[in-house]
Amino acid sequence: MIERLRKIVQAVSEADDLEQALSLIVHEVRRAMSTDVCTVYLSDRATNRLVFRANEGLNPGKIGEFSLGREEGLVGWVASRGEMLNLDDASAHPSFQLVPGLGEESFASFMGAPIIHQRDLLGVLVVQQTASRRFSDDEEAFLITISAQLAGIIAHAEVSGLADLNEGSPRGITRIMGVSGSPGIGIGEGVFVSPTADLAAVPYRKAENRKAELRSFRAALSRVRDDIEIVSDNLRDELSPEDHALFGVYLNILDDSTLGGEVASLIKAGQWAQGALSQVLLKHIRHFERMEHSYLRERAVDVRDLGTRVLTYLQDDSKSLREWPEQTILVAEEITASALGEVPRENLVGVVSLRGSGNSHAAIVARGMGVPAVMGASDLPYNRLDSRTLVVDGHNGRVYINPPEEALRRFQQLQDEDVALSQELLVLRDEPSQTLDGHHIPLWVNTGLAADLPRALECGAEGVGLYRTEVAFLLRDKFPSEEDQRQLYREQLEAFAPAPVTMRSLDIGGDKSLPYFPIIEDNPFLGWRGIRVTLDHPEIFLAQIRAMLKANEGLGNLRILLPMISAVEEVEESLALIRRCHDEVLAEGYSQTFPPVGAMIEVPSAVWLTGALARRLDFLSVGSNDLTQYLLAVDRTNARVADMYHGLHPAVLSALAKICADARAASCPVSICGELAGDPRATPLLLAMGFDQLSMNASSLPRVKKVVQSVSVDEARDALARLTELNSVDQVKELLDALIRRRGLERYIRPGQEGSE
Ligand code: PEP
Ligand code: MG
Repeated sequence: MIERLRKIVQAVSEADDLEQALSLIVHEVRRAMSTDVCTVYLSDRATNRLVFRANEGLNPGKIGEFSLGREEGLVGWVASRGEMLNLDDASAHPSFQLVPGLGEESFASFMGAPIIHQRDLLGVLVVQQTASRRFSDDEEAFLITISAQLAGIIAHAEVSGLADLNEGSPRGITRIMGVSGSPGIGIGEGVFVSPTADLAAVPYRKAENRKAELRSFRAALSRVRDDIEIVSDNLRDELSPEDHALFGVYLNILDDSTLGGEVASLIKAGQWAQGALSQVLLKHIRHFERMEHSYLRERAVDVRDLGTRVLTYLQDDSKSLREWPEQTILVAEEITASALGEVPRENLVGVVSLRGSGNSHAAIVARGMGVPAVMGASDLPYNRLDSRTLVVDGHNGRVYINPPEEALRRFQQLQDEDVALSQELLVLRDEPSQTLDGHHIPLWVNTGLAADLPRALECGAEGVGLYRTEVAFLLRDKFPSEEDQRQLYREQLEAFAPAPVTMRSLDIGGDKSLPYFPIIEDNPFLGWRGIRVTLDHPEIFLAQIRAMLKANEGLGNLRILLPMISAVEEVEESLALIRRCHDEVLAEGYSQTFPPVGAMIEVPSAVWLTGALARRLDFLSVGSNDLTQYLLAVDRTNARVADMYHGLHPAVLSALAKICADARAASCPVSICGELAGDPRATPLLLAMGFDQLSMNASSLPRVKKVVQSVSVDEARDALARLTELNSVDQVKELLDALIRRRGLERYIRPGQEGSE
């Protein structure tokens, strides 16, 4: 059964469109289960009815014509309850009803399974049999499994199909759900950037110039041939003549008489070279993979390898020629900080990532840049988006494809309102961050990209609470030298001097992997991350700290922050290394005092060690992004559980209050630099807890300042005191919303929250 299931799912996922996918499903399921009938009913959102969309065994004339109400008949029973139904005598069931003209009269047994995607009922999969037959447990399991697997495919195919619609289509606007990554509305042209050399992720595109595409393909082919010939020559003496002859076979795969010729024909027919290559090679790879004979199955690996090599050369070629549309919406399976850095800043108006969530690092970088972003839009038909008008609604985590004129105007208006609000808040820049009753809470800024610098400088921050040094590492193709780093850090320190700049030592691992230092692990967030990597590689840590100290010469505004601390020993080891660097730098002739050193409190063990860490360090900073992930056991990058990730969870807030109390008892200043610090709704609570600074991205700072200026410490403390009675995120939100409403601050709370949703 499993093998059959795998084959059905694979065949369906390769279908060109939804109709073909559904026909395949009914055909294959009927065959696999030896039933007389198989039907797929799909839910029509406009009419809220279940439409008879694909069938084998009943009246084909009714396909697409006939539909049932959501509670009508046995199919409606399955749909409305979201439960399976298995009957050997369907007519005895109270919900049974015979539909004239469908041809169901002679079927006694019925089994139906709901097709559900992300809690949404997409349809019902039904099998029927003339003979009275109670389907076995195994058959039930088969139908349930296949409907669960098919739900994702149908959801995706439905959207892909809709994406072919043009503006003003009667079927309306195509909206893709995701989660908010960075607030704001972006309107522009979609550009899909595929991961390098992934045959399966090449977008469809027409050739602008067929001859030029053909030339590129032939050039890439010839470079791959040269590469293989070099390898073949190198191994000539080490392999037997028979084994060596395999290289000849390998080269032949790309000949004009075989796959090379097929690719060339597609290009001549109008496809661009990368698309033609991907289409032909994937077809052959699938063909080889399905072969029974293991030797032939292995050939799929060769074909994939060759295709990847050719694709790499084609991509190198097109990268240098790439022109970004004036209003670019960057779309990728997984947006990385380096992809964000590739598009000229003035062209980038929005970002869509199929994977990741609002707490992924790419989302944080997008927020820092002030670019609207939607993450986890997994149903987006990404390879059909090129050159289409997209709207990124970063407030609500939605993407709209080719919206009609009227909708575009509405989005434009929302965008204008955002700009107007930001303008209005500009006046706060030079005003103090002080509560109604005169309490001053410094607001600091988080930085990372060089492109952030002007925004960070202009937002009125009193210091930098978190400079993510790894962002510069992510944008390179090798580790930067000590001198490269010194220059980079000098720029930051100088830009903000005399205000303090908190530089975090390299925090890689988790979802931040350097292309030139890959870390491949099953559970990267519980693995080799942050300080664990740099203590294992002191040469990386020492060079970075020396560069920071040298950059601090004559300025004295550097603070060093250690990420992912989970044990006191890590702090002691790091301090010993920092002292060593300081001695070395002094010996080289630099003169400066030892900088303040702090640790991030971002894993649960550090919460319990706050006192011990505070006694050894000059300051602490709470990384609420990771702390939330680890306290709630919710992967911060996983869109599927994004709605369980809450910075305003009572458990997270209680941990924050404990950190503040323990740090205060040890007379150690404590700040918070996770996204929660930039959530204006959370501001009163953080204020009342006693954080010494709040550090956030530049675009959040004016809104947070507005809230600070509009509340009193007393009412904030009152809200904090009431927290102990609350057990759920909703209750916490209610409490905070009431305070926000009382103070008339609703306009400053963004619909798609950052740190807390
Ligand atoms: C955090 O975890 O809250 C934090 C500020 O660090 P990062 O988001 O870079 O992991
Ligand atoms: Mg962190």
